[in-house]
Amino acid sequence: MDEGQRFQDVNRLLVRTGPLANNGNYGSIFPEHVPFEPSADILPFLRTAAQILVVGAGGLGCELLKDLALLGFGQIEVIDMDTIDVSNLNRQFLFRSKDVGRSKSQVAAEFVMRRVQGVKVTAHFCKIQDMDASFYRKFQIIVLGLDSIEARRWINSMVCSLVTYEAGPDGALTPDLSSVIPMIDGGTEGLKGHARVIFPRVSACFECTLDLFPPQVAVPLCTIAETPRNAAHCVLYAHLIQRDRDFPDSPRPDNDDPEYQQWVYLKAAERAAAFGISGVTLTQTQGVMKNIIPAIASTNAIISAMCAAEAFKIVTNCSAYLNNNAMYMGGEGLYTPTFCYERNPTCVACSTARVELAVSPGETLHALIERMVDDARLRFKAPSIRAEGGLRGDTLYMRGPLEAATRANLELPMRELVRDGASLIVTDPALPVNTTVIVRFSS
Ligand SMILES: [Zn+2]
Repeated sequence: MDEGQRFQDVNRLLVRTGPLANNGNYGSIFPEHVPFEPSADILPFLRTAAQILVVGAGGLGCELLKDLALLGFGQIEVIDMDTIDVSNLNRQFLFRSKDVGRSKSQVAAEFVMRRVQGVKVTAHFCKIQDMDASFYRKFQIIVLGLDSIEARRWINSMVCSLVTYEAGPDGALTPDLSSVIPMIDGGTEGLKGHARVIFPRVSACFECTLDLFPPQVAVPLCTIAETPRNAAHCVLYAHLIQRDRDFPDSPRPDNDDPEYQQWVYLKAAERAAAFGISGVTLTQTQGVMKNIIPAIASTNAIISAMCAAEAFKIVTNCSAYLNNNAMYMGGEGLYTPTFCYERNPTCVACSTARVELAVSPGETLHALIERMVDDARLRFKAPSIRAEGGLRGDTLYMRGPLEAATRANLELPMRELVRDGASLIVTDPALPVNTTVIVRFSS
């Protein structure tokens, strides 16, 4: 099929205007919104100039790459650190059994380029953290097909950090809109999903609404198979791996079957004992078994279509876009509400306001670090901390080679390390940029 033929229907959306064209009356968050102007130049722009990044080449990523290529995006890059597992093949339809063990992003890129003539897909087989600001800055738009909160958080912080500010007529700082890279976040869980449009530092970002997401409980299968760390991992091992190994020819029993639950409980308890893990009980086993949510191909297809349509609308401006979140609930009937997330004025990632933390002067640095890790807003993983004007030097605690030299500070009360109002500069693997936290001594 030649290109003109393949994209003639897409092109109809771009060379004509209509009642749904983006006139800026709704759906636009930009003050200087330019209404849609139909033009024959838009499709060539989409084919050759617009750079789009797809983050993740798994269940959602495969769908996204296919949808975006067929919508006319001609310059696509995709980043994913995973290799193809045989269990992916039921829904990650760009992969075949001969591809097992190869890079997801590379195989997906090759498949899409073979199938949609003229599209260029550049694959990056690495972690998102391996790429720096200069890589992310070159894209017009970024679409996320991720399954982890941690990765979403990191990339959200990265795109927020790319936004520069300029002084408005009244001297107030406003984001320079040319530095704002729109980001579309898709997510699925069983028969539920969401599509969300984020204009970093302009509309609510992922971090603004982080408290909606409970700390993650999903575990990679390899952890379950090789190195269980808690009671749930042992239950999942018995339920997902050992059962099929011990009874390869019998059909899988119902999760609610009490006899089967008892069997899983006993096997999980054996495994827990072998690894010195406590906490496996029958009730806990039943709870873990009920919480397994299967990945469903049709949910991925629906959410991906929503995300790809938003990317197309934003890049071409042909239609008002989602403001700013749509849910999809397909478990019982169909329910797809949309609503607008509000920005959090003290967001760690997108606000210019500094984060303040109430600290008791007698609280040790160690206790403060633990609190930062548990804090629902900060959720640091392994913070290193400097202080401007520290009473015993600026370095309070460093991971890595300096750890031993700063370890003694952990047991000191905060009043011996900093003054009230001091700025703590926190470096943490959860986020690509430093976070400044202001200490407020409370009595
Ligand atoms: Zn935010």
